[in-house]
Amino acid sequence: MLADLHSHTHYSDGTLPPQDLLARAQGNGVDYLAITDHDSTDAVRLLRELPPADGPQLVPGVELSTLWEGHEIHIVGIGIDIDHAGLQTLLRRQQTLRRERAQAMDLHLQKAGHCGLMAYLDTLPCTAVSRNHVADFLIARGIVGSKDQAFKRFLGDRGRIASAARWCSIEEAVDTLHAAGGIAILAHPTRYRVGKMQFRRLIREFAATGAQGIEVSYSNLDPDRMQHLATLCLENGLWASTGSDFHHPGNQWMDVGRFRHLPATVAERAIWLHPAWAGCSVQESGN
Ligand code: AMP
Ligand code: MN
Ligand code: MN
Ligand code: MN
Repeated sequence: MLADLHSHTHYSDGTLPPQDLLARAQGNGVDYLAITDHDSTDAVRLLRELPPADGPQLVPGVELSTLWEGHEIHIVGIGIDIDHAGLQTLLRRQQTLRRERAQAMDLHLQKAGHCGLMAYLDTLPCTAVSRNHVADFLIARGIVGSKDQAFKRFLGDRGRIASAARWCSIEEAVDTLHAAGGIAILAHPTRYRVGKMQFRRLIREFAATGAQGIEVSYSNLDPDRMQHLATLCLENGLWASTGSDFHHPGNQWMDVGRFRHLPATVAERAIWLHPAWAGCSVQESGN
């Protein structure tokens, strides 16, 4: 069973159109693919309109940005009803926050003599603008040489044009995903810059909202940390998810369907064995 339950298309900060992502997932032997764009379900909507085809079963998903103790925490929702009114209201609000954040960055850049960010963003197919797109702009203009530099110097927490967005709370994200019939999963837990005790508190508080899972296996995660996450998963009564967080084909370390098997300790707690998984809407995929 190969379930990649975390991936992006060009409707957020991925580079592939949904059909190309699906074809790549099929080529890599993926059985279940959740497309989880940042604060957008447009890719899922588009695929739903196409005739069914061979390939992975498509699990409708989304990745919500939330704010917790000043940190940006990502929550993946899978098996959601993308037509749920409350979910779409939240997504529109988050998309507006993204646009406003980009406008604030644009003002900063203009003051430094770099014009054209908003015009650049308007040429993209995305409905959820991301710092990733701003990084592309900074590279295209020769202002920085790489994504790493873009985040270190401009876009990261301490970057020159960093500007915090007032994302929804973890509770609101989880409640909305549940209202839309989905399963809530803490994305890439090791990627947050929090201390050890704060990290344990994050997972405890996340579990206390009634959320079901945490990602235990994903791209670039070493086996020791994966084991540690598996232990935390069990200690908190959560279920274990897997996903590449695929964004673009150029990154060989983050390809769709490419991550380690779950550790044996959580094999029985795989998210696809959760009782709510059976009720997840899984669509035939279109190509
Ligand atoms: P946003 O959703 O606008 O807050 O942007 C966050 C996205 O930028 C993440 O989903 C990653 O895809 C990407 N990202 C965050 N930090 C880095 C980094 N240091 N280097 C490259 N990409 C990053
Ligand atoms: Mn991203
Ligand atoms: Mn994320
Ligand atoms: Mn992601």
